Amino acid sequence: MNILVINAGSSSLKYQLIDMDTESVLAKGLCERIGLDGSNIEQKAAGKPPRQSCGFGGDPGKVYKKELQLLDHVDAAGAVIAALTDGEYGVLSDLSSIGAVGHRVVHGGEKFSGSVVIDDDVMQALRDNIPLAPLHNPANITGIEACRAVMPNVPMVAVFDTAFHQTMPRRAYLYAIPYEDYESLKIRRYGFHGTSHKYVSERAAKLLGKPASELKIITCHMGNGSSVTAVDCGKSVDTSMGLTPLEGVVMGTRSGDVDAAVVQMLCNAKGISADSALSILNKKSGLLGLSKGKYSDWRDVKRSAQSGEVEGVRTAEVFAYRVKKYIGAYIAAMNGVDAIVFTAGIGENDDYARQLILENLEWLGIKLDAERNKTREEAVISADDSLVKVLVVPTNEELAIARDTKALVTV
Ligand code: ADP
Repeated sequence: MNILVINAGSSSLKYQLIDMDTESVLAKGLCERIGLDGSNIEQKAAGKPPRQSCGFGGDPGKVYKKELQLLDHVDAAGAVIAALTDGEYGVLSDLSSIGAVGHRVVHGGEKFSGSVVIDDDVMQALRDNIPLAPLHNPANITGIEACRAVMPNVPMVAVFDTAFHQTMPRRAYLYAIPYEDYESLKIRRYGFHGTSHKYVSERAAKLLGKPASELKIITCHMGNGSSVTAVDCGKSVDTSMGLTPLEGVVMGTRSGDVDAAVVQMLCNAKGISADSALSILNKKSGLLGLSKGKYSDWRDVKRSAQSGEVEGVRTAEVFAYRVKKYIGAYIAAMNGVDAIVFTAGIGENDDYARQLILENLEWLGIKLDAERNKTREEAVISADDSLVKVLVVPTNEELAIARDTKALVTV
């Protein structure tokens, strides 16, 4: 069965077509500038594997690139189908070879603790959740509606970034604000990146040769957006992001945890609205803010820190310290830890970040092996005498979405 995975943003639509018999990507692509001038689509088809399994000689994938007018997401969904079924650049003969569509949806609120087949009731529930994610959910809904219009007979599934964290106990998800505000407005901690935390924790359990139900794992998804999760017996019991993805560790441009009074002080001192103050915390803070507007990309921070530049040293120090604090907190929350897992852009690729985060944790039985830590692939990177295993596990949110989708549409 082929599954189309869709990640719709307000003016973009990312997709991957996955053959679930082999779990291989047939094609991936992106529609950009939807509803704006200069809209376009770019798709890369997977190359043909080599005839003999020598690892060389395969046919490189064909790239399909087109500038075309995409007035809305329906146009974009139509362009995706046209690209996938294109005579020269496509990978499918027709629409009927798409068995199902899996949609990434950012916020499932309290209603969705797992993925669901999309019907009209689910669409209504997604609309009801818009106040919880006013920036993301409307775009996700638009993407689903567009796909339903273009592929009316193909079953669709919604996979939520928040769902994995719905197992958090009350003590972890409640803010200590008036309880009535939780009851009426649903102001609480939800957490995000759930698809990734679930995928890498399950994969880590496999690599360690133990069932997830016997493991306490801390997963560190460190990308542009970052979050840390405590996974006890296969369930999320706490995570660093909260009502929105702003809470938690230091990110590319997001501050992570701050005293809420910072918002008031920014408003009063600068004469700006709460929305503008939040925009500073979301878009001008984090690595970017700490480096005085110089770097939001970790690679630049690292280069700067390693060359001894004051901005880089300061930024890297705060970044690593915050992650370390969450790791300590989650060891306490779970009464121990068996494994710490690093994933996403920084977590998968950067030995320096992993070393900064985990240094001076020997007392807790956490010890990296410097050589093993150089990896950028799936591996155990802790020393043999480390009580806690440390792993790098590349995340694959699209595959996780496709697996959930397949499971729900083939029952
Ligand atoms: P997003 O949250 O946008 O999906 P990613 O998971 O792609 O983010 O991560 C982006 C971050 O990963 C950036 O800060 C980037 O600097 C970092 N990154 C990507 N590749 C590397 C690398 N080879 N070494 C160090 N950092 C990297």
